[in-house]
Amino acid sequence: MSAEEFLKSIRDSASKISRKIRLMEVCGTHTVSIFRAGIRQLLPKNIELVSGPGCPVCVTSDDFLDKAIEYSKNPNIIIATFGDMLRVPGSKSTLRESTGDIRAIYSPLDSIRIAQENPSKTVIFLAVGFETTAPTAAATILEANRLKLENLKFLSAQKLVPPALKILLSDPAAQIDGLLLPGHVAVVTGVKAFEFLQIPSVVAGFKPDEILRAIDWLLSRIAENRSEVGNCYESVVHRDGNPQAQKILDSVYEVADSNWRGLGLIPKSGLKIRQEFERFDVEKIIPIQIPESRPNPNCRCGEVLRGSIIPTDCKLFGKICKPEHATGPCMASVEGTCSAWFRYGGSHFEF
Ligand code: SF4
Repeated sequence: MSAEEFLKSIRDSASKISRKIRLMEVCGTHTVSIFRAGIRQLLPKNIELVSGPGCPVCVTSDDFLDKAIEYSKNPNIIIATFGDMLRVPGSKSTLRESTGDIRAIYSPLDSIRIAQENPSKTVIFLAVGFETTAPTAAATILEANRLKLENLKFLSAQKLVPPALKILLSDPAAQIDGLLLPGHVAVVTGVKAFEFLQIPSVVAGFKPDEILRAIDWLLSRIAENRSEVGNCYESVVHRDGNPQAQKILDSVYEVADSNWRGLGLIPKSGLKIRQEFERFDVEKIIPIQIPESRPNPNCRCGEVLRGSIIPTDCKLFGKICKPEHATGPCMASVEGTCSAWFRYGGSHFEF
């Protein structure tokens, strides 16, 4: 079906539902695609799209940033990180403002080259991400182990999406009627990791017509009152996921509790480096103490990540908080919801 045909079908389904429907996407790439294509404005008035905790940089807690900034003050340490993390504010500053040696990289494997080129320094890779990127970080640890590269360490805050969704949906205030599930995460986990969900939920691709197809799928189930978990990204996502990536993950990491911005400490929602590889865990090898982290009380990223507010409900949005000088991670990250609202606008976007 074409995008126009999906839209017609969406309007048909929406006309059969007499109440307001809230659909949540839980992937930053979906958020950006939805805004860029203007999908929100194309939907019937009773269908609202809200963004959830789908941006890994955004859900990373302040204490992780504060630790990274503290490590960066050590002249014998080089921090290797994806560029987005540089602009994210910790309690007092950003990595970009640090006077330390900070290198923006495109792949965790780049940190191996930096460590080899700087044998007298300790290189710390900031391993932040979901199931999507965690296998590459795990492969980097395996490669560092093979190379006996002892000066490469990892500050790790890898997170698992399904436990966060369980917590999010357990809050009756969330009022979510359907979920657009993250395609990239599902490539690794498979659809089966989401089959516990009790509301219509579907794995979606990233092109506008793929997103419209997934919304159409959700609305048809909602109209028929059918809770079902499905897959509209069959070309790359399978029920069992990617067993090889799962095996690499499992060989390096074990499941652990993890602290999420906006959702708090969630049991079994993160990954920690197994004891066998703990010499790569910087917190084990070079422990540091930092003062208790103090998130900016005016930043409402936590509520944005839960879908309880939209970015324009934050009084700093577009005034003090802009992408080039972000107050919170949802504006600092290119996949953040506040950033998407700022760059592409929303149906309620007004100053
Ligand atoms: Fe935080 Fe800025 Fe978003 Fe407000 S607009 S919630 S300050 S990131």
